[in-house]
Amino acid sequence: MSIEPLALAPSPSADFTGEQKRYLEGFFAGIAAGGVSFGDLSAAPVAAAPAGPALDDLTKEERIKRELHPFDAIEQLVMDARWNAKPEPESVFRYKWNGLFWLNPVKDGYMCRLRIPGGIVKSYQLRELAAIARDLTTGYIQITTRNNFQIRLIEPKNCPEVLRRIQGCGLHSKGAGADNIRNITMNPCAGYDPHELIDVRPLVHELATLIIASKEFYDLPRKFNIAYDGGGLISAVEDTNDIGASAVRITENSEGIEPGVYFRIALGGVTGHQTFASDWGVIVKPEQLNDVMVALLRVFIQFGDRTNRKKARFKYVVEDKGLDGVLVEAEKFLKFKLTRLAPDAACQAKREFSQQGHSHVGTYPQKQEGLVYVGASVPVGQLTARQLDRIADLADSYGSGEVRLTVWQNFIIPNVKAAYAATVAKSLKKLGFPTEQSNLKSGFVACTGNKYCKFAASDTKGHAIAMMEYLDKRVKLDKPVNIHFTGCAHSCAQHFMGDIGLLGTKVKSVSGEGYHITVGGGFGENRKIGRQIFSGVAFESLGTTLEAMLNGYLKNRTEGETFHAF
Ligand code: SF4
Repeated sequence: MSIEPLALAPSPSADFTGEQKRYLEGFFAGIAAGGVSFGDLSAAPVAAAPAGPALDDLTKEERIKRELHPFDAIEQLVMDARWNAKPEPESVFRYKWNGLFWLNPVKDGYMCRLRIPGGIVKSYQLRELAAIARDLTTGYIQITTRNNFQIRLIEPKNCPEVLRRIQGCGLHSKGAGADNIRNITMNPCAGYDPHELIDVRPLVHELATLIIASKEFYDLPRKFNIAYDGGGLISAVEDTNDIGASAVRITENSEGIEPGVYFRIALGGVTGHQTFASDWGVIVKPEQLNDVMVALLRVFIQFGDRTNRKKARFKYVVEDKGLDGVLVEAEKFLKFKLTRLAPDAACQAKREFSQQGHSHVGTYPQKQEGLVYVGASVPVGQLTARQLDRIADLADSYGSGEVRLTVWQNFIIPNVKAAYAATVAKSLKKLGFPTEQSNLKSGFVACTGNKYCKFAASDTKGHAIAMMEYLDKRVKLDKPVNIHFTGCAHSCAQHFMGDIGLLGTKVKSVSGEGYHITVGGGFGENRKIGRQIFSGVAFESLGTTLEAMLNGYLKNRTEGETFHAF
């Protein structure tokens, strides 16, 4: 789908399209008269065959990998640490294999991204991460949109110590960046959700162990995302991944398929490229799922484009070979044949429980009698070391010492006795993490932004917090709306799938920062790539624009209509 930007003239009296007017009804008479301005745009174990292209045709990144495997650059990292030296350009790329991202020119220092399969983290790990953040970084920890943690800012001299301490508490940062398989995500209540079809934790752990331990999977043509969804209350947003596996139940013995729980597989999702994963037309038994994942990874290693980074994602292998072609290639790596199943097959069970908006926030019963999980909102996923320590204390005192991170940049404390739920919720609120659903605040997601990311055109996290406060005082929503702030086209905050998506851009205004605005994005049952309706809205005008859009929706919607459908 191609999106034609609809540029706004720098004056509120501009000619808007019918759709823009629909969102902005009442805007000109009231809010716009207050001086809204829009900035101008400026701006089966078989090793895969070695990469086919000649050396000269390979991308610069592929050549860097071949000259020295990034894990073998650890010696250089230690030398850099000894002299507290900035990395050489090629080291910047290689160090990402250890999860270290050099933030220059934005800052002289590193960000370290971890690997936390499924977002399952223990209280002692939280305390050690808090201590690392306090001792060796600027003290903040961020939850990412892959239910994971990032810490920053780390001086070169402290990198070996950070890595040692991360590994010392049983966590990893290996392969957390560049051409590797990123943190495996899952539905965050796996094992506890009474609605789930299957607990995916054993599958996530098995695959993560395999990936972390195998050198074969540290040389992909490009990054790779995998998500497992057990079919419960909260989805893993799996269709935004290169591979998304979703549990389904087959209820009748039909087409020769035994009733039971299986996984449907979807391939080629990259929301930054405006593409959701497509159903592959197969179902897989749980015990075969990881074999299929490994086979698909090998197909990617074999056929991914190493001559053009822009075409190197798995999506392009799927487009090139077609879903059937990928199936033929994958079966070459498997000891069994895949079971075909048409998407509209009569025996296909649908998701048994509809995805609710923001359903990770609040208190919910677990399948274990008498226990609940408490989900809290973390404003744009940012925490301090002190807050992290306190979350660990609450998980120990009232839960089982476990915390789950969500792809919505929030967290859940499971295994709380129902009698203590209110105490936990109250403590979390006092700590700055509300557990009441807010139709507005619970749905804010923001990428790192220009405080630490060199690609960012805007201060996404700062702006998201400002908008949260601004809109919360002015708009009363009765249905959840997700607002995603992303600083560049890489779309780490997946703006295309937000009810409202904001893509940072440079504009002529006091701040010089603004956003393109998309609407109508969704995921899961409501999956849809958002359509852009405004271009280059200056940050100074963002609050009034979003306020007008939300009020336009409240005023003009039909009964029961969601913002997504509006
Ligand atoms: Fe950086 Fe762009 Fe990702 Fe935001 S979306 S964190 S700006 S790379």
